[in-house]
Amino acid sequence: MRDRKESCMPELPEVETVVRTLGPKLVGRRFTRLVHLRPDMLQPAGADLAVLTGQAVRRIHRRGKRILIQLESGSTLYIHLGMTGQLTIETPDAPTKPHTHLILDLSGDAGQLRFRDPRRFGGVWLLPPGQMGDHDIGPEPLSMRAAQLAKALSRTSRSIKVALLDQRLLAGIGNIYADEALHIAGLHPLTPADRLSPEQVRLLCHCIKRVLRRAIRHRGSSLRDYVDGNGASGGFQKLHRVYDREGQPCRYCDTLIHRIVLAGRSTCFCPRCQPAPRLKARVR
Ligand SMILES: [Zn+2]
Repeated sequence: MRDRKESCMPELPEVETVVRTLGPKLVGRRFTRLVHLRPDMLQPAGADLAVLTGQAVRRIHRRGKRILIQLESGSTLYIHLGMTGQLTIETPDAPTKPHTHLILDLSGDAGQLRFRDPRRFGGVWLLPPGQMGDHDIGPEPLSMRAAQLAKALSRTSRSIKVALLDQRLLAGIGNIYADEALHIAGLHPLTPADRLSPEQVRLLCHCIKRVLRRAIRHRGSSLRDYVDGNGASGGFQKLHRVYDREGQPCRYCDTLIHRIVLAGRSTCFCPRCQPAPRLKARVR
């Protein structure tokens, strides 16, 4: 099964949907009991999650693909879904699914917060007060200005597709939404990131926001494992323009979608809507 492991990776819209569905059920509740923990899922190694017991949740938010649960003590529980992670609230009598690594009881009969991750590329970090868990990632795509994107892209001559996947340049975009945004913008994925014109950067900035907002409205893309905080699947996978559509007709021009591999990642694009870049010689 080609590329399944990368195609099920939750990206910004999926993580945002998890945060939005968990928020109303989690904020203001206390963790009353640590029911179950697979210790090697927790970082730093040896951290004692028992300190969570009795702590109220102040806020849950997203930064890039990261879920951050702020506690009244000032500590933050940071959860990364990796490729197959699920963070849900369930009733205590719901059967425990295989690969469930963390279960925390919530006050007021609000159920249990459960984290499961069959492939274990995700994890749970306990961050001390003052650490936000986002020092190593780039700006948020939904609130970035075109000038910020231009600055990030000017730092690399790699292809625009590969640059968009680099979390240090821009936080939250993965394979699905990079391919989708490039199709909307009419940009060939091999275009060098630092060779985009200011107009192309402005257009790309707009298209990234557009596809991410639309995907959030459709509660993300469910390809295999992804579910929201209530355990429900997303619906945006039905609306993908190019992602995972190799050999199928472009929804806009009927040209068959091509697939290439860039930096080990599948990349789908329409050769007509996204013509190969004609580059002038680089000025030295
Ligand atoms: Zn097309």
